[in-house]
Amino acid sequence: MNAPVQPSFAPARQREVVDALRRVVPAHCVLCDEEDTRPYECDGLAAYRQLPMVVVLPENEAQVVAIMKTCHALQVQIVPRGAGTGLSGGATPIADGVVVSTAKFNQILQMDKYSRTAVVQPGVRNLAISEAAAPHGLYYAPDPSSQIACSIGGNVAENSGGVHCLKYGLTVHNVLRVRMVTIEGEVVELGSGALDAPGLDLLAVFIGSEGMLGVVTEVTVKLVPKPQAARVIMASFDDVVKGGNAVANVIAAGIIPAGLEMMDKTSSRMVEPFVKAGYDIDAEAILLCESDGTVEEVEEEIGRMTDVLNASGATAIACSQSEAERLRFWSGRKNAFPAAGRISPDYYCMDGTIPRKKLAQVLLGIAEMEKKYGLRCANVFHAGDGNLHPLILFDANIADEFHRAELFGAEILELCVEVGGTITGEHGVGIEKINSMCVQFSPAERETFFKLKRAFDPAFLLNPDKAIPTLHRCAEYGKMHVQRGQLRFPDLPRF
Ligand SMILES: Cc1cc2nc3c(=O)[nH]c(=O)nc-3n(C[C@H](O)[C@H](O)[C@H](O)COP(=O)(O)OP(=O)(O)OC[C@H]3O[C@@H](n4cnc5c(N)ncnc54)[C@H](O)[C@@H]3O)c2cc1C
Repeated sequence: MNAPVQPSFAPARQREVVDALRRVVPAHCVLCDEEDTRPYECDGLAAYRQLPMVVVLPENEAQVVAIMKTCHALQVQIVPRGAGTGLSGGATPIADGVVVSTAKFNQILQMDKYSRTAVVQPGVRNLAISEAAAPHGLYYAPDPSSQIACSIGGNVAENSGGVHCLKYGLTVHNVLRVRMVTIEGEVVELGSGALDAPGLDLLAVFIGSEGMLGVVTEVTVKLVPKPQAARVIMASFDDVVKGGNAVANVIAAGIIPAGLEMMDKTSSRMVEPFVKAGYDIDAEAILLCESDGTVEEVEEEIGRMTDVLNASGATAIACSQSEAERLRFWSGRKNAFPAAGRISPDYYCMDGTIPRKKLAQVLLGIAEMEKKYGLRCANVFHAGDGNLHPLILFDANIADEFHRAELFGAEILELCVEVGGTITGEHGVGIEKINSMCVQFSPAERETFFKLKRAFDPAFLLNPDKAIPTLHRCAEYGKMHVQRGQLRFPDLPRF
């Protein structure tokens, strides 16, 4: 199924764009031969591929400005790209468009232990910020499992989260200022070095805008002190419903753990032989609950969490006795996605959010869907935030399995909306969840999104056709959902 996608642009147009770009940036920054552009044909959503016409790798902000002006003048579409780890196809190229990769734009410009901030270029890897801050006893809190590879530019565009976001917030809560270049080549600063900035909060609008409003060229992030102590509890449950309820009980007890993650049996069995994290592979679900703070705070909180977990029906509880053991417990969770490759040729990672109290109900719903679509699903999630990551396992070489996986994924997202949740927690909409946006938002709401997009990019040149579905697309999607003579989404517009 993954046969190479063939180029689909006019050679004369490619020559015109390449010549124009090479007039404004060094020749080595512009890639147009197929062997050079092929690595950019997809992001982490590898089921969807498109060979780009041109890839350009700017090395400074002035070059980004020149690239944007050139592409704007030629009316060529642009797809911004960081490290390409995105899971919703946000960086999927456009056939006759230009990919602007900020991966080489990767210097840490300033590390200020007094203001506890760092100023970094967009291509800096998430983990590199914490590594550079470590000598000052500081770190950057949002920690996607991909943090070894993903870039801060991509994190800003996706409003990325991670294990520690329950207590410390998402990217939007940890970024003070962004410099970006608009499609017309104007440099704009959003936010400020302080906690607030005058005027409308366009920084919050920009964070999570999936490369549709501008190209990030500089980010000021907040750093937080490394806690004195941290310990993690691993609690086993003989029933996923009890595990789901335990999550709600921990939060209801007034505790905000530094991390609160859940894995079902399929997930822990998938990951344990790979990383040997010491997981209870006979448990139907395991919870990882972390506490951080001073030694005394951690001891007290671990005690309270243990009581709640026992009262919620935990069958076994283990608590990390050393930093090495704490990291070992987390290593399994952090490697859950790659471990899926051990038991299935392909997997489709979903990302939806639900109210915590609905965890058990949604898990049971997913189990029913496994039977309906004849596919297995491993459930790994940021349980404390109610952010699910069902990994639907399939084999793309078996006819129809990918299609069934897509339908399975869409139904999970619809269930998330039905129980009062959302179709994305942290991976963005991209192309993957664009149809599900029709379920989440009304035509008027989607038109408001388009108005915002037009304010930044009137000609729709910047990452168009991502994240916001047109009326036409939603009408088509609505039609696909006529079941047993009933239109499932009667509010959707029809032709
Ligand atoms: C194994 C694995 C685990 C993951 N775990 C998590 C997780 O725990 N939490 C989480 O939130 N995500 C996770 N992700 C998803 C992904 O890593 C994040 O979405 C990440 O922020 C993407 O960063 P990137 O640099 O790879 O961006 P890309 O994939 O290159 O791009 C992502 C989006 O950002 C835009 N973009 C990139 N750079 C810029 C820029 N300079 N200016 C403007 N727009 C830009 C692109 O157009 C695209 O829309 C995971 C992915 C993998 C493969």
